Amino acid sequence: MTAPAAAPGSRPLALRNVTVVDTRDGRLAPGLDVLIAGGVIAEITTTGPDAATAPAAADADVVDGSGKYLIPGFLDMHAHPLNDKHPAGGLELMLAHGITGFRQMAGSPGLLRARSAGTLPLPPDSPGVVALPGALLTPLNAGTIPDAVAAVRDQAARGADFIKIALITPDVFFPAVAEARKLGIPVAGHLPAGIDASRASRAGIRAIEHLGPGLTIIAGCSTDEVSLAEAIAALPALRLPRVKLPFMDRILTRVLRRVVINPVNRSTPAEVEILQQAVDTFSEERAAELAGQFVEDGTWQVPTLIRLRTQYLCDSPEFSADPDLQYMAESTTKTWQGAASTFTRKFPPPSRATFRAAYDVLLRMTKIFSDGGVKMLAGSDAVGAAWEVPGPSLHREFDELARAGVPALRILQMTTRDAAEFLGTASTMGTVDVGKHADLVLLNADPVGDAASLHQVAAVIRNGRHYSAADLAGLKDRVRSAHPAS
Ligand SMILES: [Zn+2]
Repeated sequence: MTAPAAAPGSRPLALRNVTVVDTRDGRLAPGLDVLIAGGVIAEITTTGPDAATAPAAADADVVDGSGKYLIPGFLDMHAHPLNDKHPAGGLELMLAHGITGFRQMAGSPGLLRARSAGTLPLPPDSPGVVALPGALLTPLNAGTIPDAVAAVRDQAARGADFIKIALITPDVFFPAVAEARKLGIPVAGHLPAGIDASRASRAGIRAIEHLGPGLTIIAGCSTDEVSLAEAIAALPALRLPRVKLPFMDRILTRVLRRVVINPVNRSTPAEVEILQQAVDTFSEERAAELAGQFVEDGTWQVPTLIRLRTQYLCDSPEFSADPDLQYMAESTTKTWQGAASTFTRKFPPPSRATFRAAYDVLLRMTKIFSDGGVKMLAGSDAVGAAWEVPGPSLHREFDELARAGVPALRILQMTTRDAAEFLGTASTMGTVDVGKHADLVLLNADPVGDAASLHQVAAVIRNGRHYSAADLAGLKDRVRSAHPAS
């Protein structure tokens, strides 16, 4: 975890007459002064009648918080900005949308070294890195059980916060998770195709990303689980090289970069058929049972619904018409258009109907998990995924969670308090309390009544520094002019 260093010499900041939102229970406490000094919340007092004589305001920059709601800054708990060759613009855009921290989902020995040296490629106006793994476990570095065990040990020794599993097979998955548990390092990632989700949960995977992805969890919620498992087992195995050749890692990186734009584009007719069967036999009772298993094991879900929506509905006009595309380089939007064209060309209307139905099932599943008390986090999966603009895409995730029926307070918690609990940093993050990091967002509307209010960012405070609405607009302008729209 990177604790924000107190900005030396920066003046204290007093937010006057603000409504503080308690992310524990949604309680609103109006009429408060919040004094920020040394990068932390120093004092919270009742606003007095005379602003000029309030002790908090004596030597502080004063911001009028009347009519504003103060919450902790958003944490994007599944993001890849540091996998971008030029991460600055994406990070600035994230900050401009209220994101003060993110869980980087793919690391490397170089990134781990840079973090220890304090040289991560973060621009001055940036969210912080709240968790950083080593390199993805793939068939290249973890193709066999001994290789996977060695990779887990190596990453733990290099100071990785967690192990990210991407594409390994079930025979390697369980020993890798077991080794990580022995070392006390959490594992997060994708379940391998054909795996039993409840068995993976019992084995101790800490977080499952993207509701599987693919056929894993949805098949586990079927009344026809056994025949689905057989059909999945009969699919041709993932063909990735297991032998190490020179430059293979670089080639794999390039291949993966193409695949991640929209992994659904690789679906075969047989896979679409199995997906339809899973949709047809989806059982709310089975999903609720699985939810109970996740609760029992303390297994977290990071649905990244916006990632699933942009994959399964890739050619939907809502994406190509997204005004936030103005922040992306033309070459990037062209690549995304290309992925949408491939999607349209490759999948006939019945397949696209299957994908749409699958997405609706994933929304229902999310609601069932939420109702069942499964711990969940909000994540976007920007950068590198089609139609995912860093910053705005986390707001789309809030919308998708609301669409699924997750209550507004729960959505707020998923991106603040619950994320801090997941990270083990609840003593410094996740609520607006004295002593906590001054990573905060001021909203123009109450987010507990309506999750759409999370979009109404009036100001951001990052490490004690205040970004007014004008500052945030300036940041967005800077990113936009670095990538002039065509
Ligand atoms: Zn990801």
